[in-house]
Amino acid sequence: MDHFSLIDGVMHAEGVPLPRIAAEVGTPVYVYSRATLERHGQVFREALAPLGTNGQEPLIAFAVKSNPNLAVLRVLQRQGFGADVVSGGELMRALAAGMAPEKIVFSGVGKTDAELALGLDQGIGQFNIESREEGRELAALAAARGQSAPACLRVNPDVDAKTHAKISTGKAENKFGVPLMRARETFAELAALPGLNLRGVAIHIGSQLADLEPLETAFAKVGALVADLRAVGHTITHVDLGGGLGVPYRRGEVLPSPAEYGAMVARATKGWDVQLTFEPGRVIAGNAGVLLTRVIRVKRGGNGPPFVIVDAAMNDLARPALYGAWHDFEAVMPRGERMTANIVGPICETGDTFATDRDCDALVSGDLAVFRTAGAYGATMASSYNSRGFVAEVLVDGDRFAVVADRLDAAAIMDAERVPEWLA
Ligand SMILES: *Cc1c(COP(=O)(O)O)cnc(C)c1O
Repeated sequence: MDHFSLIDGVMHAEGVPLPRIAAEVGTPVYVYSRATLERHGQVFREALAPLGTNGQEPLIAFAVKSNPNLAVLRVLQRQGFGADVVSGGELMRALAAGMAPEKIVFSGVGKTDAELALGLDQGIGQFNIESREEGRELAALAAARGQSAPACLRVNPDVDAKTHAKISTGKAENKFGVPLMRARETFAELAALPGLNLRGVAIHIGSQLADLEPLETAFAKVGALVADLRAVGHTITHVDLGGGLGVPYRRGEVLPSPAEYGAMVARATKGWDVQLTFEPGRVIAGNAGVLLTRVIRVKRGGNGPPFVIVDAAMNDLARPALYGAWHDFEAVMPRGERMTANIVGPICETGDTFATDRDCDALVSGDLAVFRTAGAYGATMASSYNSRGFVAEVLVDGDRFAVVADRLDAAAIMDAERVPEWLA
């Protein structure tokens, strides 16, 4: 459920008509709905709450990479969320949004020494170690500071998440985690190091998962590993089950609900007796945002449908170009007529295509439209390709809104560049 709907024929975000945002902020612009974020956060939390231990709810660490905007993080922080971060920059954002350090989990295969040190300095709650090499480095850094870094070992369960190859992370050939067959020896080696408090395991098998079965298979492997590790004397108190739950991108599409996910997790983790952590991103933020755009012009096609050229492009929303992803495309003030169109941006690449042969609301030059389900992996993947500048972001709350990220135009970006003296 989201809060983007037609009121008297005009699409609103909660109580704000989108044409008002377009007039005041310009287009393209990402528009997020606070009520939608909060609702998704609450639904997810309620689905997992029964899995708490010792009167403590599981830790829900929002995957910052899905939407790192400070205002978005703040909404979730106020709901008690922690953060799953994958870089020093994301760690700084989570802290700036007020996330408690002990609710921050640091994931990622390529954490540098500087990033590991930052995590130690800030006293974050958990490092998810992705290799024996990283574990040794973290142990040495922590020991040198007289610290013991709380950590889980990320394992690669070798399951096919049945999602797009570029966002599958739990197959043996993917770069993430330690292969299960080496998990026991790696765990034993790292657990013995002063400087590490290795207390559990972590997995994350991929994103936009439309099927719970691969997750359940992976969780079963984790359960077996936990039992094996305990059998040889390790103390396992924490398991991090990652994120990955998918969201509907097309009207009418049905995906597993957080409640179904929660029921599956309850089944799969029965008797584990650990503190669970979850790292949802897309399922919280995806449907809480749209990309608002204006039609520049409609150009007659060659031998196919017309091209609806919008002022958003692949630099603003990369998913269609990167993954062939589908985003529903709707007029802000639909007239009731339909057309079949190729929906494209202005960038000089054929890849700058949002949709081909798409049945959509009839549009003419100057009309406003939205790409739906753009709240996750949207603005955060933006670039300034073609010197288009960085897209602005707005957060709506009831009948008010605020610009939560300025548009960085071509001039602002040029300001960071210099022609060296010797070329003057
Ligand atoms: C990307 C990522 C997530 C979030 O994935 P979603 O599909 O957005 O839920 C969680 N954990 C890790 C380690 C990730 O890399």
